[in-house]
Amino acid sequence: MLHEEPFNKYSRYLKKKYGQPVYRVGIDAGFSCPNRGKDRGKPGCTYCGENGSRAPYLGTGQNLKGQVDGTISFLKDRYSARLYILYFQAFSGTFAPVSDLKRIYDYGLSLAPFRELIVATRPDCLDRKKAELLAGYKNMGLDVWVELGLQSCHNRALTLINRGHSVEQFVKAFNLLREYDIKVTVHVIFGLPGENWHDMQKTIKFVASLRPEGLKIHNLNISADTAMYNEFLTGEFTAPLDLRHMDYTIRALEMLPPETIIMRLTTDTKHEKLVSPGYFIQKAKFYSLIINEMKKRKSYQGKHFLS
Ligand code: SF4
Repeated sequence: MLHEEPFNKYSRYLKKKYGQPVYRVGIDAGFSCPNRGKDRGKPGCTYCGENGSRAPYLGTGQNLKGQVDGTISFLKDRYSARLYILYFQAFSGTFAPVSDLKRIYDYGLSLAPFRELIVATRPDCLDRKKAELLAGYKNMGLDVWVELGLQSCHNRALTLINRGHSVEQFVKAFNLLREYDIKVTVHVIFGLPGENWHDMQKTIKFVASLRPEGLKIHNLNISADTAMYNEFLTGEFTAPLDLRHMDYTIRALEMLPPETIIMRLTTDTKHEKLVSPGYFIQKAKFYSLIINEMKKRKSYQGKHFLS
């Protein structure tokens, strides 16, 4: 392991690439999600709350300029930020006709001199035309990333959480993005109902075999406004606490390719809605906790990666 830290942390990757910190400007462009329908006419993933996959810090307005200006001004004040990435973070960022997507991405990118474009989406919201559109932004000198939800490599688990797509659909979308040389960040969740470490280990092995450029690991959060909350009330499962999640994460990092960029290790849920885990250490402290524990265990990303 070449790095001082025992895993390939996203912020360090960006700093090394650009010579200074780069900040994501997360926006909600008003996309919906086929798994929940336009106004939640469908149930969606069982862990999906009222706000869907929108991060708690995001505004809900559709005024992209206002969102971009507001976030950049905040980042400048708080961190003296100078470089930015445009991040279509909320819901399924490719769930629209290609002509609408082009208009929205073009407009978003015109609002500031962004260095990269990131679009979060679902495997069933990608096709060749959309991949072509996304790949086209590389001609503007931008790095283009797609964040693709997998959550588990077990169709049984995907059915249980009502993901609305299969592992096979995920693989098809992943390979399509590979064909266009678009960088992919895979999302997984640790602690899904009915899954033990053995299941999660298989998911990580599966992800490692794909060698994605990025990975986001989420610890299961059960929010009061979700279908999963009603299942949780049966008492048959709980979300992992921080020490359990730390152990899963360390073992997962050891199995991953050393070059995969680790873009997230925990989940953000609005505190007032979070039901389980009842206690989880703050995000920044979790990073210190995991780094210290990895050093203690002489552990590092890729330690058990089998190429
Ligand atoms: S894919 Fe995302 S937005 Fe859609 S239902 Fe699942 S969690 Fe919610």
